[in-house]
Amino acid sequence: MKRIILLFIISIFLLTSCSNLSDIDENSIETGKLQAQIENDSEITNDEFLNEDLKENIDLSLKPNEAGKIMILMYHNIGSEEKEWVRTPLNFRKDMETLYKKGYRPISLRDYVSGNITTEQGYTPVVITFDDGNLNNFEYLESGDINDESAVGLLIEFNEKHKDFPLEATFFLNGEQPFRQNSLILKKLSFIIDSGMDIGNHTKDHNSFKNLSAQEIQKQIGAQAQYLNKILYVYDYEINTLALPFGERPKDDEITKYLTSGRYNDTNYENIAIMNVGWNPGYSPYIKKFDNTSIPRIRASEMKVDNVGMYNYIYYFDRNPDEKFISDGVPGVITIPEEKEEFLNILGDKEIYKY
Ligand SMILES: [Zn+2]
Repeated sequence: MKRIILLFIISIFLLTSCSNLSDIDENSIETGKLQAQIENDSEITNDEFLNEDLKENIDLSLKPNEAGKIMILMYHNIGSEEKEWVRTPLNFRKDMETLYKKGYRPISLRDYVSGNITTEQGYTPVVITFDDGNLNNFEYLESGDINDESAVGLLIEFNEKHKDFPLEATFFLNGEQPFRQNSLILKKLSFIIDSGMDIGNHTKDHNSFKNLSAQEIQKQIGAQAQYLNKILYVYDYEINTLALPFGERPKDDEITKYLTSGRYNDTNYENIAIMNVGWNPGYSPYIKKFDNTSIPRIRASEMKVDNVGMYNYIYYFDRNPDEKFISDGVPGVITIPEEKEEFLNILGDKEIYKY
């Protein structure tokens, strides 16, 4: 009977969601199929739980689901006129406000890929990224103040108003003029690290990786990592996240491994996260499908987003809340509805709490 009801719900969903892109439908069908498959398995019980006390802190009425999806947002510019790759300060504020009201809370990209998710229980993590290191991402005015309509200024402003919306974002920088005020590079990069935000690698020359040789790719990644690491040498901080220029990968699979690790100028590099451009929410770091070498990002815009922009997914998750990641608030425990268990791929010594 349960199965019939489930199939009925799936059918209704499919009928009512024709306007969504196939990508969204595909995910739902997949989830639906898998849910149907495991209807038969009613014998799932919790394995021995090492620390029963932790369970008491987890409120199951908030429907924690740490196998659910996480949006990684991709921004480029902040500017006075809204364009395909430009968000106005007003719209950026609206984005933050919308995320905040709908229960999303920023986490760092590093915490996402390492599965160190400390988001308050009942809330959904979100990762914010900016590419290209333009002046409008981070500008100091002549007065010495940060331009409050640059990305950094806007993020700080929102965090000051809402302390429970952590100041977390990754700025992917290419070339040797990050943020375009050359006398202030060290000051800016230091500020980002000191305030708990992150800097990532967007390559030396921002060339597409499609047709580059292994040697050239290692140069593009290695040289940029070395340039940024040198500026930040006083910090215990390593540039080890990479956003692919134009989201493009080498055509030759043999060369792809150099995205993750390689060597340039007698120095090795290693990346713990490789970011694509488009089109889906990311998988939970605790499930088998999660791949830190190919992390999808969602366009944080409302222009030419082909129905797979940030607001499309916010709307989608509003209607399908069981598909998004909802934190249990206890970092050492991974809490999931029991039907999600087969998707899990637990790293480290985390405990699983099924309900
Ligand atoms: Zn770029």
